[in-house]
Amino acid sequence: NKQVVLRDYVVGFPKESDMNTVEGRITLKVPEGSSDVLLKNLYLSCDPYMRILMSKIDHEGFGCYTPGSPLAGLGVSKVLESGHPDYKKGDLVWGMTKWEEFSLMNHSKHASLWMDVVLASHILVSSLSTGMPGMTAYVGFFEVGSPKKGENVFISAASGAVGQLVGQFAKLTGCYVVGSAGSKEKVDLLKNKLGFDGAFNYKEESDLDATLKRYFPEGIDIYFENVGGKTLDAVLLNMRFHGRIPVCGMISQYNLAQHEGVTNLAHLIFKRIKMEGFIVNDFYHSYSKFLEFVLPHIREGKVVYVEDIAEGLENGPAALVGLYTGRNVGKQVVVVARD
Ligand code: NDP
Repeated sequence: NKQVVLRDYVVGFPKESDMNTVEGRITLKVPEGSSDVLLKNLYLSCDPYMRILMSKIDHEGFGCYTPGSPLAGLGVSKVLESGHPDYKKGDLVWGMTKWEEFSLMNHSKHASLWMDVVLASHILVSSLSTGMPGMTAYVGFFEVGSPKKGENVFISAASGAVGQLVGQFAKLTGCYVVGSAGSKEKVDLLKNKLGFDGAFNYKEESDLDATLKRYFPEGIDIYFENVGGKTLDAVLLNMRFHGRIPVCGMISQYNLAQHEGVTNLAHLIFKRIKMEGFIVNDFYHSYSKFLEFVLPHIREGKVVYVEDIAEGLENGPAALVGLYTGRNVGKQVVVVARD
């Protein structure tokens, strides 16, 4: 049972060498009388929060990985054997699993995240692309952002798993949408494939405040926050009165021992801005509502998603650390097996 294990707690930027691919042992059998489920892992999701779990510090109950043990995260898996009444051999599910070929999982611990694969007519990875990041985009934009037609929306890390869907949801709502991303390829993708009204490479902009004023001469109503740091500081100067900032992530800060200071927070007061953090896990009760919204759009080709596929579990560490240098274009997925 090939596994990707964490070597030791990570300090600073994660490296491929922080993980080892090893041969572990597993009994390919559900113990008599247990409700465990034996899974063959097909696709694994690389997500920015995984860096937070590599630290020794438990951030507000998120937990930490254990050195010497396999990483855990979202995946699409096939049920090989089940002691649980809700799952039977051959079912395809997505939810929490481990970075290994086969996993014996206790369903009850992860019940809220285990779902049948609903996008069977699409390739299986779709559940990872639209499942968790899609829900994040949906609740962050609609429930936290409270958008109105005609509003101005800015999205950072806009070509990534979450950002690309926020942008398309904002266009469907009738908003003016601009995104920032870290390469020309990503900027082209935003403008030509994902329907953004504008996009820029933040690495080429020396004065982000001036850049935002160029794209938003009348200011920003909704900033979908994915990166934090300098970008947030410049955005605060460009928010409109009664603007909203759904705080989804701050990836520019995850690898820093000391988080960068944000100097313009007083604009929250002057402009009566609502800035609100959220975690997608708190919203899975709305999952079926999200699917009702997104599936018809996907079927009609009105919502598309870009995926970056790494082949083979042994290439998982490189794919994962690539999130923090922007190597991925779209949702980063690792293929362990195709069936
Ligand atoms: P992405 O697919 O967007 O991958 C991460 C991207 O972040 C990279 O491709 C890179 O793109 C960008 N990035 C990396 N380092 C920096 C940096 N220092 N400054 C600016 N951009 C950087 O990831 P996701 O879409 O999955 O996640 C986006 C954000 O949403 C993350 O902050 C994540 O933690 C958060 N999140 C929060 C959830 C919640 O429940 N609140 C759930 C899921 C995600 P580029 O080349 O453009 O720099």
